[in-house]
Amino acid sequence: MPDLTELGLRKPEPKDRPATTAPQGAVAVAPPAPPAAAPASKPTATVAAAPVAQNIEPFVDKRADSFAIFLDRLMEVLEQLAPDADDEEREDFKTRIREYRAAVNDPRRRAELPQVTDACIQLCRTYLEGSRTYHAEREKELTEVIAILRDAAKLSVGHSTEFNSEVIASTERFSRIAQLDDIRELRRRMTDEVGSLRRAVAEKQRRDEEAYAQLTNRVESLQQKLSQMEMEATVDALTKVGNRRRFDASLRRLIAKAHETGGHLSLAMIDVDHFKKINDTHGHPIGDRVLLCVAQWLSRGVRQTDVVCRYGGEEFAILLPGASAAEVEGRMKKLLLDIAGSSYEYDVLGRKEKVQFTVSCGLADLETNEAEDAFVKRADEALYEAKKRGRNRVITRKRGLLGRMIAWG
Ligand code: GH3
Ligand code: MG
Ligand code: MG
Repeated sequence: MPDLTELGLRKPEPKDRPATTAPQGAVAVAPPAPPAAAPASKPTATVAAAPVAQNIEPFVDKRADSFAIFLDRLMEVLEQLAPDADDEEREDFKTRIREYRAAVNDPRRRAELPQVTDACIQLCRTYLEGSRTYHAEREKELTEVIAILRDAAKLSVGHSTEFNSEVIASTERFSRIAQLDDIRELRRRMTDEVGSLRRAVAEKQRRDEEAYAQLTNRVESLQQKLSQMEMEATVDALTKVGNRRRFDASLRRLIAKAHETGGHLSLAMIDVDHFKKINDTHGHPIGDRVLLCVAQWLSRGVRQTDVVCRYGGEEFAILLPGASAAEVEGRMKKLLLDIAGSSYEYDVLGRKEKVQFTVSCGLADLETNEAEDAFVKRADEALYEAKKRGRNRVITRKRGLLGRMIAWG
């Protein structure tokens, strides 16, 4: 730096004036002297203000005034364009610059101009070094933020291409922002960028929720279709009661339950008597109507928990959990009486035709440890017995001694 004395700006110290105690380049300088004889408000000042009387030089140094103006403008620029640093440091820097400006603008303190200039230079040097460190630290932090964003973008690859490209584009913009020298501009752009990232995330969330809702609806309707298909798969198309598949599954389930709880389980096998004759006399379609009619009679004559199925052809099977054969026998007898006592009319070319029919029933009550096929066979044998004994009747088949002995083995 050029010697201020050489430039005619530094006034040589008068021989009889005590030398200032501040070292060359001291950062602090005294604030403007108070108007009265009050003590200086900043005891930390390293450059003592000369007494007011001594500060007012009789001779006006035009060059010193011009330098003071130049110095003040320079300091004004410094104050306005102070580069970024910690907020506290920046504020402190500005305050001190303002104090120097006050000193520079005070004509009574012309003698302090060299010290103020040195202190200001020293302050700027220290502050700029601090600011450089501050920028280096922010740059490092930004680089870390970008790395984290990149990782996040990589992690979400495959979930949403559109969102990923938005995030990747945003990280690229972050990279470019990080190269900015102006930290205030950088901060502004970072805030914008974070805002657009937030919007991208919110948009993705909205799309995900929408897709999830659509998926949930689809799954629900598929589940409904599936249960309907399952239902249809176990319903007999003609008679609308359970089919053989439902019978087999229910039989397995109810036998297992009865064995487990020791409760009753009865099986009624019901067959339309002389059905072949009905078909032959009234035609197949009327035979079908009779089958539907029998299914309705049977369904109405049992409880909600009983399972009515078409076993095959004109044969039906009813599983009655929790009911003994004796209880079911009474119920079936009444049902058979009702069926036999009814007749069904239909029109053929304006002529009324009448159908009457009966059914036979074989009954069995599940015994301890009895297997599925043995249970069904017993009910079947009872039905055969009912047919043999003249039809339109209920026969219950108890388990034989041999069967019981095998079961107890
Ligand atoms: P039984 O009293 O001994 O049972 O004599 P049945 O005539 O009822 O028995 P059979 O086994 O001799 O004849 C059964 C008939 O049922 C033969 C078959 O054509 C008829 N059939 C089976 N399935 C259907 C069907 O879905 N609709 C119609 N209309 N007839 C059927
Ligand atoms: Mg029959
Ligand atoms: Mg039959």
